[in-house]
Amino acid sequence: MTTRSELEDGHRPSSAGEPADGGTDFIRQRIRRDLESGVVTGGVVTRFPPEPNGFLHIGHAKSICLNFGVAEEFGGETYLRFDDTNPLKESDEYVEAIKADVSWLGFDWGDRLTFASDYFEQLYRFAVELIEQDKAFVCSLSGEEIRSTRGTLTEPGTPSPYRDRSVAENLDLFARMRAGEFRDGEHVLRAKIDMASPNLNMRDPVIYRIRHAHHQRTGSTWVIYPMYDFTHCICDALEGITHSLCTLEFQDHRPLYDWVLDNINVNFHPPQIEFSRLGLTHTVMSKRLLNRLVTEHRVDGWSDPRMPTIAGLRRRGVTPAAIREFCRRIGVTKQDNLVEVELLEFCVRQDLEGSAPRGMAVLDPLKVTLTNYGGDGEVLTAPWHPQLPVLGERELTFGQTLYIEQEDFSDDPPPKYKRLSPGEMVRLRYGYIIRCDEVIRDESGRPVELRCSYVAESKSGSDTSGLKPKGVIHWVDGATAMPVRVRAYDHLFTDAAPDFSDLDAALNPHSLTEHAALVEPAIDASRETRFQFERLGYFHRDPDTAGLYHRTVTLRDGYRP
Ligand code: ATP
Ligand code: MG
Repeated sequence: MTTRSELEDGHRPSSAGEPADGGTDFIRQRIRRDLESGVVTGGVVTRFPPEPNGFLHIGHAKSICLNFGVAEEFGGETYLRFDDTNPLKESDEYVEAIKADVSWLGFDWGDRLTFASDYFEQLYRFAVELIEQDKAFVCSLSGEEIRSTRGTLTEPGTPSPYRDRSVAENLDLFARMRAGEFRDGEHVLRAKIDMASPNLNMRDPVIYRIRHAHHQRTGSTWVIYPMYDFTHCICDALEGITHSLCTLEFQDHRPLYDWVLDNINVNFHPPQIEFSRLGLTHTVMSKRLLNRLVTEHRVDGWSDPRMPTIAGLRRRGVTPAAIREFCRRIGVTKQDNLVEVELLEFCVRQDLEGSAPRGMAVLDPLKVTLTNYGGDGEVLTAPWHPQLPVLGERELTFGQTLYIEQEDFSDDPPPKYKRLSPGEMVRLRYGYIIRCDEVIRDESGRPVELRCSYVAESKSGSDTSGLKPKGVIHWVDGATAMPVRVRAYDHLFTDAAPDFSDLDAALNPHSLTEHAALVEPAIDASRETRFQFERLGYFHRDPDTAGLYHRTVTLRDGYRP
């Protein structure tokens, strides 16, 4: 697990865009070797092969950055290939969402957009080829029977009673499976490999099954569908993938990947190379579980800003650059790892720190009336970013009625308190110094209004008052501030490594807090959508709902509402 001190000390970026280890992870080393030795001649070709059964998550981003990244670095090409072999779970909506996410991350597949279903006819012919060589057979056991005869890690499986069907009978049955003569589950096509293999994936795996279902691309043309292990290696071979990069759970499938390609007539055999999946604390990286959160309405759809999906992160205000930088920093290894979500937040903060304009918003407003102020409608100017003059300036109105953060006033201030308290002074950022003269309270004694006086000579930038109040606080002008809703987020799951067997217990009940807030009008009018609200964090204006802002990330040492 990455620790916080590693984050702050050891993980400084070397230079923008360069992989964390200077491009020497084991996959890049391997590719470089293959190019130098002439194993690969026509350029590097990779693919990102999502199944369109859900939205992409940040784990997929790791794979996207790796596949598209190495192709870019070595002057190659990357396919975006949809693994659409299970019509029951897949949809066009997911295809479109995945395309949008990959583009948004900044990667371009050009004209290399493919679907496993593009190859259904060829895949069928390769299956026939296996049957003809007596290397595949039609099995009429039920799914349950196939599972129960598979054996265990310590005991071999039991060969299917249908294993010795003749080639002719297998060809006939397989053709009739395709023609739709049988019901779902009545037969499957299995590779004939080795029921005693120590690798369970090699024990006569199913390579085709019957599914009378509408497919989003091929409609009702097919009623048999190839399985992933059979499909994937052949698509890789047909597309000339030079390095088939996948996650470690496929390591045990590699012998099958190789067996299929060794036993059919293709002239290209890509190597499969595995790397570890990304795991992130306080969240989940499985589409199946994410799907459950959506369908059970635990979150507001796939793009809920608490979701680890690319769409959720985008709505939350995370930039593609921050995600790419995160992927660069985590690197690529074979070690299973659980990365702290703080590393992602660090990358987001770092990116926004140097790009997002800064303005003022008050999340929990407390009214301030300036008893001695007569200049209502005064216009001040302030830079959008103190260190980035290119971002320009905005106008800021000042008036008799202002709002400050409830947290910035204390009746009973602790020692060294730097905000406002009775009788004390504070500077309003880019405005004037004020002093709290009187506190108006409701029946319960809670302050509801502060009556203050302002110091006319203390205007920011031309201060001649000689006063040096200890604190500077943010504020908005009551006459012009825009009422908005601000959503602050916390971890979706309470524990760093949640136990998903009990979702109710695992979900953080405080993952969302909504504030009726006030923002300065220049923020709401700006064409920018990401801002630092001074002292509060980074926020993103929702692209679809007017007057809604999401807190992207807090300020590292800022106070947290
Ligand atoms: P999930 O379990 O979330 O559904 P998946 O592996 O079934 O993931 P696919 O759509 O098949 O999802 O994944 C497409 C590619 O993304 C695969 O090559 C897979 O290895 C890779 N991938 C998926 N999850 C991660 C992850 N957490 N870290 C790195 N790569 C991942
Ligand atoms: Mg999958």
